[in-house]
Amino acid sequence: MPRPFPPSWYHLTAGDRPERQTLSGKAEADICVIGGGLAGLSAALHLAEAGTRVVLLEADRLGYGASGRNGGQIHSGQRRDILWLEKHYGFARAKALWQVGEEAKALVRSLAARFGCKITNGLIDVFHRPADEKENAHFVETLRERYDYPDIEVLSREAAAEAVGSPSYYGGCRDRGAGHLDPYAFLLGLAGATEAAGASLFEDSPALSYRKENGRFCVQTPSGEVTAERLIVTTNGRSGPFEAVTRGRTVGVNSFMVATEPLGDLENTVLPGGECASDSYFVICYWRKSADGRLLFGGGESSAGRIPSDIGSFVRPHFLRVYPQLKDIKIAHGWGGVVSITPARMPFIREIAPGVMAAAGFSGQGVALAPYVGKLLAEEALGRVPQELALYTDLKVGRVPGITALRRAMVSLAIWHGQLVDRF
Ligand SMILES: Cc1cc2nc3c(=O)[nH]c(=O)nc-3n(C[C@H](O)[C@H](O)[C@H](O)COP(=O)(O)OP(=O)(O)OC[C@H]3O[C@@H](n4cnc5c(N)ncnc54)[C@H](O)[C@@H]3O)c2cc1C
Repeated sequence: MPRPFPPSWYHLTAGDRPERQTLSGKAEADICVIGGGLAGLSAALHLAEAGTRVVLLEADRLGYGASGRNGGQIHSGQRRDILWLEKHYGFARAKALWQVGEEAKALVRSLAARFGCKITNGLIDVFHRPADEKENAHFVETLRERYDYPDIEVLSREAAAEAVGSPSYYGGCRDRGAGHLDPYAFLLGLAGATEAAGASLFEDSPALSYRKENGRFCVQTPSGEVTAERLIVTTNGRSGPFEAVTRGRTVGVNSFMVATEPLGDLENTVLPGGECASDSYFVICYWRKSADGRLLFGGGESSAGRIPSDIGSFVRPHFLRVYPQLKDIKIAHGWGGVVSITPARMPFIREIAPGVMAAAGFSGQGVALAPYVGKLLAEEALGRVPQELALYTDLKVGRVPGITALRRAMVSLAIWHGQLVDRF
């Protein structure tokens, strides 16, 4: 099956990467992890380091899902902000989930340091409607005063314009505790460490089905079979025929990104402080600069199956709206990926069958949360039952329709509605 998206700019510039073999014949493990993104690799790493025999199956190449295609932004907290979480789950739960976000960032930082992967600090979040000023101030004050988070500050309209390098927004905030990295370099570091810890990683080995036999799971791939005591499913709701539970709680939205040519003399006109940025549009834009001075910009969405033939031209109007001074800058590469979201915009993390744990639907928040949840799933499989996992497993996450055409229509409608709202 052809890959639906072009490789990401990170894939193209990563240099030589070891190809992992395809599973052929039988393999035995204590735990079989299905899905080689940030969540699955982190689960496998933490299991292998605890002395567990782990086999990880990846349908494509490691990091060819969202984990190797994203904006690289390490966000604080959850996809739903603390004000929404407080309203729906109360202060104590919201604060505990905020703390989970802090631990997730700390884990990424410690792993990145171990793999020699650079993190640049700071995220500028900007809003595009003057009416959002009050809520922005309330959000920042709440975090500082009630969530003991001093790393965030309000940016006035002028300060936001200076920080972003664009007068397009009405204000925002600077989160010094957030940051950005090259997500694929990070993932390759994770994969290398996981293998060094003794896990077996297989590429081009989609898990097709599983059954229970003599008390053990048998996971079938096109040319092999893994037997294991437990399964961890980290396919981000995109398991194919393997299982339908996570697919039933998530929908995929295509998000597109470009890498420009190096900005040269214009580099300091864009995010002069080196932070990353994101805005408040429904069809959100997110961006940062690469180490070699390119703009890496995400903007524009579509429903599954609808991939523009020229991704560069699709994304270009979004970054020219923010940075008209870049009108003569060429786009070096365009790509996309699927952001898996749940109706609740909180991840779906559950035991989907006895002995089978799954995590999916991290929205645009998985760079920090997916590795952390992978670690929690590893701890759970080792019998430690971390309290933090319970903060997710009983969150209300509704179902989405199972019929593909209906799902696509739903996403298209949501994007269309969002684009309409964004105009006003
Ligand atoms: C364009 C884009 C920009 C984004 N920007 C950001 C950002 O800036 N910050 C942020 O925090 N998040 C961002 N995200 C979201 C983030 O990338 C994801 O939340 C995160 O990578 C999810 O990790 P994962 O391991 O759960 O899933 P994935 O990375 O999707 O991994 C799942 C893996 O499972 C494999 N798989 C599927 N089915 C099977 C099967 N049957 N057998 C074996 N393997 C299977 C897939 O091939 C895939 O490799 C972005 C996403 C996209 C697409």
